[in-house]
Amino acid sequence: MEEKIWLSSPHMGGGEQKYVQEAFDTNWVAPLGPNVNGFEKDLEEYIRENSSVACLVSGTSALHLALILSGVGYNDEVLCQSITFSASANPIVYQGAKPVFIDSEKETWNMCPEFLEEAIKDRIAKGKKPKAIILVHLYGMPAKMDEIVSIAHKYDVKLIEDAAEALGSSYKGQKCGTFGDFGILSFNGNKIITTSGGGALVCNTEEEKKKAVFLATQARDNAPHYQHSHIGYNYRMSNITAGIGRGQMEVLDKHIGYRRANNDFYKEVFKDVEGVDVFTEPSSDYYSNHWLSSILVDPIRTGFSREDLRLSMLEDNIESRPLWKPMHMQPVFKDCLYYGSNVSEKLFDDGLCLPSGSNLTQGDKERIKLSIQKLLKK
Ligand SMILES: *Cc1c(COP(=O)(O)O)cnc(C)c1O
Repeated sequence: MEEKIWLSSPHMGGGEQKYVQEAFDTNWVAPLGPNVNGFEKDLEEYIRENSSVACLVSGTSALHLALILSGVGYNDEVLCQSITFSASANPIVYQGAKPVFIDSEKETWNMCPEFLEEAIKDRIAKGKKPKAIILVHLYGMPAKMDEIVSIAHKYDVKLIEDAAEALGSSYKGQKCGTFGDFGILSFNGNKIITTSGGGALVCNTEEEKKKAVFLATQARDNAPHYQHSHIGYNYRMSNITAGIGRGQMEVLDKHIGYRRANNDFYKEVFKDVEGVDVFTEPSSDYYSNHWLSSILVDPIRTGFSREDLRLSMLEDNIESRPLWKPMHMQPVFKDCLYYGSNVSEKLFDDGLCLPSGSNLTQGDKERIKLSIQKLLKK
């Protein structure tokens, strides 16, 4: 059996070990230190001038703190994109709040502005004005930010951008993660850059970042002994982990280039195939990092389903995966409200993510192409 081709695997650039070695050499083996400050500065410079970034243990913890800083508490309602990874929604429940799920639109697969506004109006009419919106840039594709931002402003609801999959993506030239009241990033093992595990909270002010770091380091009051006036968390990124992040920042743009080239490769592979659409940017306003390249398979026109293709590629030891199963269809969220039609359900039925690593070789791509063509010829 040939070696496994993964959906998305870690891709080190070479510089990471230097920063990690430095941490050892200076004995900064702690949840603070020069690499944490350095990684935060790198991210701030990359993502937006005057942004303030707090590095944390995960994207999930960043979302949790974003909700706390947005004032979300017990019994509040938070509007959340339904088609996403469960980590977008779980922190709502950590806060004792209630997720209300919103369908997607077909162009970007992200939160549909019409259903969002309908949900806000309806919740307000029922006396339950939502506290926050969690929007996702799925697979790196920017959401319809003009519409979403203007709705958040119009109804004065906090906007949290889950840009875990979209570091380096932009909408009308502005980087994803910088449109809302807060943005979050993830450096989990499968993301576009990885620290083996980690995340960040993007804030608009230094003040907010300070609050986030305070909460992330056990909420210690300013006193020589341990004194606490708030419930704290152990969410701060370590200096070792941040060293990997600094090395990864050196290759981020190169990795985005490779991922975008993967997307072009799939467009070429499927260009004459009736009934298979490669997910691409709707217009030049959108710039996706193409973290994962995905397709929609129309079984009626192609004669095969996305599951047929997934299993056929698996025979050749190539990993692919259905799109995220919408949250309103998940057993754990079955009692939650949902505003929408069946767009995200249909995406889940027909969608497949294909191998998209920035480390795919020419040989890997040949194997992928042959494997896909094997099914097409049947
Ligand atoms: C990966 C991911 C997260 C969670 O990030 P972690 O660093 O794994 O906690 C949240 N939202 C989305 C959309 C993700 O893909």
